[in-house]
Amino acid sequence: MAFNPNHFRDIDPGQRVLMGPGPSDVPPRVLQAMSAPCIGHLDPYFLAVMDETQQLLRHLFRTNNALTIPVSGTGSAGMETCFVNLVEPGDEVVVCVNGVFGTRMSDIVNRLGGKLIRVDGQWGRAIDPERVREAVKGRSPKVLAVVHAETSTGVCQPLEDLSSIAKESGALFLVDMVTSLGGMEVAIDEMGIDAAYSGTQKCISCPPGLSPISFSDKAMEALRNRKSPVSSWYLDMSMVGSYWGAERKYHHTAPINMIYGLREALRIIAEEGLEARFARHRLNHRALMAGLETMGLDMLVPETERLPMLNAIRIPEGVDDVKVRKALLTEFGIEIGGGLGELAGKIWRVGLMGHGARPKNVFLFLSALETILRAEGVKVKSGALDAAAEVYGAEGL
Ligand SMILES: *Cc1c(COP(=O)(O)O)cnc(C)c1O
Repeated sequence: MAFNPNHFRDIDPGQRVLMGPGPSDVPPRVLQAMSAPCIGHLDPYFLAVMDETQQLLRHLFRTNNALTIPVSGTGSAGMETCFVNLVEPGDEVVVCVNGVFGTRMSDIVNRLGGKLIRVDGQWGRAIDPERVREAVKGRSPKVLAVVHAETSTGVCQPLEDLSSIAKESGALFLVDMVTSLGGMEVAIDEMGIDAAYSGTQKCISCPPGLSPISFSDKAMEALRNRKSPVSSWYLDMSMVGSYWGAERKYHHTAPINMIYGLREALRIIAEEGLEARFARHRLNHRALMAGLETMGLDMLVPETERLPMLNAIRIPEGVDDVKVRKALLTEFGIEIGGGLGELAGKIWRVGLMGHGARPKNVFLFLSALETILRAEGVKVKSGALDAAAEVYGAEGL
């Protein structure tokens, strides 16, 4: 067939309700900010935008760390940035693994020639800090790494004990905050975290494409004291940091319009207030739980270890995973996630992230799921919407 340029139509995906593991729904203000004119990466106006973006990021991460910037790339680029800057061949690195993203961290450590000390835990449960204490006993690892919000399972990993273990063993404490940042407390400085990375498309509700990171003074010192150059040129924070810092030295062209979008998303978060935002995530999570419980559905994660922004529902016996998710998307415009790895076909992952953590989405999802499951012949108990409404009502909504 001959190539016909008129064959390609305007992009028009239509509306969706993004209730998966990310991307989450993007507020119109963010999309609008992204459509502002593209200017030069050394333009004085853009340099001011960079400074403001850093200020807003420090506010969200609750840190004074000088190196607090968005890496040009998605959350995985942030993950790679942390490890490639802090790990040299032969360095001992402890990685806690209880899901897909801990597994990905391990893969990166191996590729960098680090000496991986893996602490495996059950998928769907938090890692027991005692297991980590055992693993570091008699060693002096360079880094202790953990995922705060394991998006593949919906587990929240408490950080206090692991932070102490890192400190006692002299390790840098490295935390994946891709899904937690913007949806729950992360407090980098208070928690003694040395390196953290996140992503824009989860609870920050900006399109994917940037990865906010932050390095403590201790991490910067480790970077300066490296014996070998950082093996990635693009992600070398000693060079990228010079562009974001006072020198303004060109390294690579900043993704200008993505940074406009992130700045706007962070401005929205600051306007709402962190405490209010985290409380909103918890409230909508509780309403969703009340509804699902009433329907008779089970969750993967025990109540005390659940994340507010990512809810893993056990797929009822005999129900067709893909068919239900397809019906949610085609009949109701709702996107949710399936299970990953060993949980494929066993769970649904329902996100209430950032802009999407709203009563409207909770009610829509509960009624859609109930309708579809009934059509599939599942005996669903009624009253889910009432149960959710009761949770909101008790909060005076
Ligand atoms: C999404 C996610 C990542 C990877 O981010 P990408 O933007 O997909 O590269 C890493 N860690 C966690 C916990 C995530 O949820």
